[in-house]
Amino acid sequence: MTQYKIPYLNLQYVNSPLQAAYQTAIVKVFQNSNYINGVYCADFEKAYADYTGTAYCSGLSNGLDALILSLKTLGVGVGDEVIVPAHTYIATWLAVTHVGATIVPVDCDPATYNIDTTLIEEKITPRTKCIIPVHLYGQPCNMDAIMAIANKHNLYVAEDNAQAHGATFKEQKTGSFGHINATSFYPGKNLGAIGDAGAITTNSADLYDKVTRLKNYGSSVKYQHTMLGGNNRLDELQAAFLNLKLPLLDGYNVERNRLAAIYNTQLAGVGDIVLPHTTLGATHVYHIYIIRSGRRNQLQEYLAANGVETLIHYPTAAYNQAAYAHLGIGEDTYPNAALVADTCLSLPVYPGLSDGDMEYIINIIKGFFT
Ligand SMILES: *Cc1c(COP(=O)(O)O)cnc(C)c1O
Repeated sequence: MTQYKIPYLNLQYVNSPLQAAYQTAIVKVFQNSNYINGVYCADFEKAYADYTGTAYCSGLSNGLDALILSLKTLGVGVGDEVIVPAHTYIATWLAVTHVGATIVPVDCDPATYNIDTTLIEEKITPRTKCIIPVHLYGQPCNMDAIMAIANKHNLYVAEDNAQAHGATFKEQKTGSFGHINATSFYPGKNLGAIGDAGAITTNSADLYDKVTRLKNYGSSVKYQHTMLGGNNRLDELQAAFLNLKLPLLDGYNVERNRLAAIYNTQLAGVGDIVLPHTTLGATHVYHIYIIRSGRRNQLQEYLAANGVETLIHYPTAAYNQAAYAHLGIGEDTYPNAALVADTCLSLPVYPGLSDGDMEYIINIIKGFFT
């Protein structure tokens, strides 16, 4: 494995300062002996619901399970159509597939990279049941437009908030607009656990109750199974870790914004670089700092040769993946999604990246274009 001078992501910066606190939490969970659905899960659920401004949070095993249980709880299944962005992480699509519903992709907005809200209505049919907006890269979707369409056509909205913890649209937190909202606390997300974790948030007592039973064998009272559930519970240790990290999330996001502002200023007008754009009325949390260039591959190689690791989110759109070959969607069906996949490059952006690191990365990029 290549050793980079500046890796794309180094989680030690956020996790190392918490190591002693994590160790104390491990001992507490251990001594408490309440390893499943214990007090740390309950504390985190309460704290995360409060943080997002929703009435309920149900902790889950991971983000994909959160999306799947969101759809199951809404009653979305075989014969239903679900509108999803053409450009997203494949989990958004897989959730629809795993409940047996039909994926209806909508191309992305070439400026924000989120679902193009002007293209949603033409995809609505009598079978459409739900829209899954994804706040990709930490950039909120235009939730005014999406909720207006959903209300007009009587559709459910299930946000995929895996990449946008703490972001707001018109001062309201993402993950609080939809009927139910899924998120992931995969270690590299803005709020990340030390393993797999996820959650749903909702203002509906009924949806909360259903998810909470579905994740626990369809049961809320031991040995009484009122639904055909599974096991998708949030791990007690991960909840304890997340409890320690949640109060630090806003600070992490401030730092991500500070770093993004440096890139925005320093990379403006450099070569053919297209900088990120922010939705009007939204605050971006820069889960990913994305630039675009027609010379993306060469730029990535040049950065790598100079010790800077970058990634591509995502090199192959979900509909071009072998797993979705059966849908028979032509490669050129979603031109903006294809454009982003072909030209995007994710630069390092995380708490702990120093001003010196930023200067180094920026100078390499400037050097490439001169
Ligand atoms: C990370 C991610 C998920 C899946 O989360 P997991 O916890 O890895 O299952 C879903 N959607 C998006 C947009 C993601 O970035």
